[in-house]
Amino acid sequence: MVKQLSNSLAHTDVSKTLHPYTDARAHERQGPLIIDRGKGIYVYDDAGKEYIEGLAGLWSVAVGFDEPRLVAVASAQMAKLPYYHTFSHKAQEPSIRLAEKIVGMTPAPLSRVFFTSSGSEANDTMIKMVWYMNNALGRPKKKKFLARNRAYHGVTVASGSLTGLPNNHTDFDLPIIPVTHLTCPHFYRFAHTGETETEFAARLVAEAEAVILQEGPETVAAFIGEPLMAAGGVMPPPAGYWQGIAALCRKYDILLVADEVICGFGRLGAAFGCEHYDFTPDIMIVSKQLTSSYMPLAAVIFSQKVYDAIADNTAKIGTFGHGFTASGHPVATAVALENLEIIEERDLVGNAARMGRILQTRLGELSEHPLVGEVRGAGLIAGIELVSDKKTRRPFGAAGKLGAMAFVAAQNHGLIVRAIGDTIALCPPLIINEDQVHELVARLSDALDDAAQWRSAENLS
Ligand code: PMP
Repeated sequence: MVKQLSNSLAHTDVSKTLHPYTDARAHERQGPLIIDRGKGIYVYDDAGKEYIEGLAGLWSVAVGFDEPRLVAVASAQMAKLPYYHTFSHKAQEPSIRLAEKIVGMTPAPLSRVFFTSSGSEANDTMIKMVWYMNNALGRPKKKKFLARNRAYHGVTVASGSLTGLPNNHTDFDLPIIPVTHLTCPHFYRFAHTGETETEFAARLVAEAEAVILQEGPETVAAFIGEPLMAAGGVMPPPAGYWQGIAALCRKYDILLVADEVICGFGRLGAAFGCEHYDFTPDIMIVSKQLTSSYMPLAAVIFSQKVYDAIADNTAKIGTFGHGFTASGHPVATAVALENLEIIEERDLVGNAARMGRILQTRLGELSEHPLVGEVRGAGLIAGIELVSDKKTRRPFGAAGKLGAMAFVAAQNHGLIVRAIGDTIALCPPLIINEDQVHELVARLSDALDDAAQWRSAENLS
């Protein structure tokens, strides 16, 4: 630690920045882990230590950390037209071609794209589009959102309101938009004793319907969900859940929004999470693996029906009064187009399905570990929940302590993971191969053994 802080870059970081999702005072003491370069699924810190990037950065780097084709496309676009915008009838080729590509990949009836730079901006844009649309359709009361506890939809004031995690609300005065957070659809934690997965799903759908009826269907505009909830703890939905929610949305004329920011472009071993779980949204939000996060880019993808309601109103008012300086940024959209080509050419969706099966099987073996309560996931995303008592599923009294310890232990063994409370999240790059899956699981297993020893030494229960 002292050695790190004597490094002038680390010292400058500690004295000049405030880091996202970081305990600032702890950061002043321990300093940063400075990541210096990347290769394939690996990154290297400034001392040269190698790590498997078990979370693909922030669930996002599909093609690995050194894809030369993305560098070449970015540099060519930089040289030709480094920036142009898409306001007031302007356009440039990469954003047009990318919109066409995305629409070609997404399931019907999605047919239109609006670009932003981040998932949060895309969700804010979606909220404003839904409100604007309902005003245009002469139903100004239809403005409320349904979301879920433990959902993650971003951190801006509106998208952060949809997010259902205490750390994103406490002391930020959120939520600020009309939203009801429904029960988190995580069977292991929230099913009643004796309830089957199908019964659990049916109860959650009934809960959603009760809220719609209580609020009044004429006031409920949209339901938003991640097909598989990721940042809240990697929680796949119970069987039948999405079919039930989709039917409710149709029944009450409520838009169904699939937040595919993590699931999109192959993460679950299908092109999109909604395909994996077999439901059709009216609106889809994508980002992250869209560019492998080499450039900031996100998109709202929506149906012609939504488009027409908005378009008619812009004709009346004279404009759609919304847009960002970087909406459709030419370098970001050029990189996205090449990234999607690579995902297709190398069949990375198929690879995610194949490697995902191996990863889930190998992680399943860790269920025997004394700390592991549940191993869950789909494709190349997984969560390993550490519990105090495997039989009763009792969590640790001091939530997050052991998760944080396992996170550090994994890092010591050359594996970067995310600890969400006491759940260890994995989401490696889609290019991962079989040997690397085994190496990842071996490093994780060593880390869990270290965590178990620490738990005994600290008498954590
Ligand atoms: N939606 C989901 C499902 C996400 O996982 C995230 C980011 N983890 C976001 C939205 C927000 O994206 P951003 O951080 O780019 O604002």
